[in-house]
Amino acid sequence: MVKQSMPQFRVVDTPQGPITYALTRKRVKNLNLRVGSGGRISVSIPLRCSADQADDFLRDRSGWILEAIRRREARQAEPLPAVSREECARLLQEALTRTYPLVEPMGVDFPILKLRALKSQWGNCHWAQGYITLNTALARCPEELRDYVALHELVHFLHHDHGPGFYARMDALMPDWRERRQRLKGYSGALKDQDSALLPQLV
Ligand SMILES: [Zn+2]
Repeated sequence: MVKQSMPQFRVVDTPQGPITYALTRKRVKNLNLRVGSGGRISVSIPLRCSADQADDFLRDRSGWILEAIRRREARQAEPLPAVSREECARLLQEALTRTYPLVEPMGVDFPILKLRALKSQWGNCHWAQGYITLNTALARCPEELRDYVALHELVHFLHHDHGPGFYARMDALMPDWRERRQRLKGYSGALKDQDSALLPQLV
C-alpha cells in the first residue's frame, strides 16, 4: 500500500512570476489546490500523477492564485467599523453594566467608568479610587470581548494582582475567558486609528 507522501516544496515559473507551493501525493481522484493563511499554497495530487503535471496544473491557475492571495490580504487589512464618540461611550458602559452583576454579590461597588485611547492596555483598574478605564478601541471589538475586558477589570476590585485567586475567579465567572483573550489578540488592528500600533495588554 502506498502511503501519503510528505509535502515536497516546488517552485514553478508562471506568467505572474515564480510561485512556491507544497506538493503532496494522496489517495485522491483529482488534483486539488488550496491557498491557505499567509498565502501558503498547497497542491495534492493522485498517487499516479507526476510532479510535472502538478506544476502545469498550478501554472494554469497562477492568475487565480495571486488574485486569491490579494483578496485574502485585503480582507485582513480591512479596518474595523468606525464608532462615534457617543456610540463608544454607550457600548463600553453597556459592557460594564452587563458584567457588573457577576461581581456585585461579592460586595464590589459599581465603578466609575473612564474611557481613554490607551496605547498599550485594553483597560486598567484603579481599585483604590473606585474607577476603571477601558480602551476606546474596545468599542470596535465584538461584544463578548468588551465584556471580557470589563469583567477582568472588575475582578481586580477583588484580586488586585494576577495571582491564582484572580484566575480562579475568572474561571468561575467566565469559564471561556481564555478563548476570549486569545481572540482579543487578533484585534490589534482596532488601534490603527490610535497613536500606537502596540497590542494592548490587560493590566
Ligand atoms: Zn489585570
